Amino acid sequence: MDDLQLLIDLHIDADRQGPGGDAETRRAIELAGLASRRNLRIADIGCGTGASTRVLARELDAEITAIDFIPQFLVELERQAAQERSAARISTRVESMDQLSFAAESLDAIWSEGAIYNLGFERGVREWRRFLKPGGILAVSELTWLTAQRPPELDEHWRGQYAEVDTAAAKLAVLERCGYSPCGYFPLLERCWIEGYYGPMQRRFPAFLAAHAGDAAAAALVAAEENEIALYDRYREYVSYGFYIARKSSAA
Ligand code: SAH
Repeated sequence: MDDLQLLIDLHIDADRQGPGGDAETRRAIELAGLASRRNLRIADIGCGTGASTRVLARELDAEITAIDFIPQFLVELERQAAQERSAARISTRVESMDQLSFAAESLDAIWSEGAIYNLGFERGVREWRRFLKPGGILAVSELTWLTAQRPPELDEHWRGQYAEVDTAAAKLAVLERCGYSPCGYFPLLERCWIEGYYGPMQRRFPAFLAAHAGDAAAAALVAAEENEIALYDRYREYVSYGFYIARKSSAA
């Protein structure tokens, strides 16, 4: 089985495919000032099985386009959304985040939790800006250093995984440089990692390994995740995801 299919198998039954929480999605909605507005058009990019998409649909008067490049995640999103009254407001689209087909200035908000790193934060905020209406909102979560210094082991691991990992101050500077006015930042709390992501994943490992018995790549995937979890456990005060909320400004 190829590596992508293994990743899908490991994550498709999860509520979230990255660190996060419904309370944090609601907090970002609040900071974005979207709650009082009507007929919003929103994209949730790299939505996975749609945990944030469903919160947006519950909280907002909006048409939401949920985008991911893995069709199975979107099938699962649609299955879950169909069980909610808000189903009519969500549509899904299989698309890559580097080739989005939205019209220029057509979106009131772009949402993306734990996914923009696939494009790179700076490239993502630059390329997605054109899809936002003037004054539109960008709300993204992104791997973030919580301190100016950190242990070399942690630094090397995450830099190896994602060259753009940086502090909140640096991420906010990127947003300003790319034509946004930041209007909120908060780091994700530990429970977003443990209860929202790693804990449920660890509970899926036995069934995943049993389903892929004898598959060295599956065993290696679990070992890599266990390694990341142990690293988080040791160094949780140095690293998290930051949630960044910013408004498109007129100066690019
Ligand atoms: N937002 C979800 C999923 C985060 S995991 C959550 O917070 O739970 C990252 C997601 O990005 C995965 O669903 C993955 O399939 C998707 N993804 C990765 N690269 C992508 C690309 N190039 N285009 C679209 N989606 C992509």
